[in-house]
Amino acid sequence: MKNIAVIGAGTMGNGIAHVFAMRGYMVNLIDVSPQALERGVATIRKNLERMLTKGLIEGAAVEQTLAHLQTGTSIAAGVVNADLVVEAATENQGLKLDLFRQIDDAAPENAILATNTSSISITAIAAVTRRPSQVIGMHFMNPVPVMKLVEVIRGYQTSNEVTQTIMDLAENLGKIPVEVNDYPGFVANRILMPMINEAIFTLYEGVAGVSEIDTVMKLGMAHPMGPLQLADFIGLDVCHSILKVLHEGFGQPKYAPCPLLVNMVTAGKLGVKTGEGFYTYSGSTKELFVAQRFLN
Ligand code: NAD
Repeated sequence: MKNIAVIGAGTMGNGIAHVFAMRGYMVNLIDVSPQALERGVATIRKNLERMLTKGLIEGAAVEQTLAHLQTGTSIAAGVVNADLVVEAATENQGLKLDLFRQIDDAAPENAILATNTSSISITAIAAVTRRPSQVIGMHFMNPVPVMKLVEVIRGYQTSNEVTQTIMDLAENLGKIPVEVNDYPGFVANRILMPMINEAIFTLYEGVAGVSEIDTVMKLGMAHPMGPLQLADFIGLDVCHSILKVLHEGFGQPKYAPCPLLVNMVTAGKLGVKTGEGFYTYSGSTKELFVAQRFLN
């Protein structure tokens, strides 16, 4: 595998492009938005420079990594030479199905098509392509350059060979892959999102305040970050979408998103990315927040 196309240059896409390019793969980073591409490349540069300052990489690695990176706004042109496509666009099933039809039409026949979706069915995505055995979930964690886990999700028709290739590839990126089957939320979000939702219900019902809830979970359960702060970091819109997938997928009321979460998303209070969620973030505290949690 040499050529990797990454679709979506947002929070996850730029991190995924970063780790592939740093390991010497040629990366084509594609987004519908030229501004998102600009921001994505600027973020990769900033994160590489931070790694350099911390002595994690050598001086030449910054420019070498950036030299492995190309950007573009056309899906067809971006995937035409890809050995692997990793889709990391917005978490919306209709959008992803449409994207995979386009990717399937344009990518080489033997290319593997992976998605970084947090919760959408790999089997459903695979079913809109002509190569369902070559479609797989490759669920990186945020922030991608730092977090070790890759949840590798086998769709109903994903082949053993493709699964093994992706497990080996994740290891080659310096990650630790874990293989799971395709059911709503997979493993990570099936367990994490009900906890976050319960923390929001605890706040909504007036049991305790934001900082009290987060302190209980940090000091009592040794979580590095409280669930409300983590929800802000993930994005409240992303949490809301995943809970809806769990709710619809299992048909159980226990997964229904808390009305407070729904209200906050409707009001555009999405957490760190909009500057306000359960906490407020100014430019510098946002930097501090990310640095403390993940980069020290
Ligand atoms: P984001 O909103 O930061 O970025 C999404 C990007 O996709 C945007 O730049 C947008 O312009 C682009 N996009 C939208 N439609 C597109 C299209 N048709 N073609 C190309 N680009 C398109 O989202 P994110 O947080 O990076 O999430 C991306 C994916 O990763 C989602 O599936 C999400 O569930 C998953 N994920 C997110 C996290 C997290 O913590 N944010 C963690 C793991 C997985």
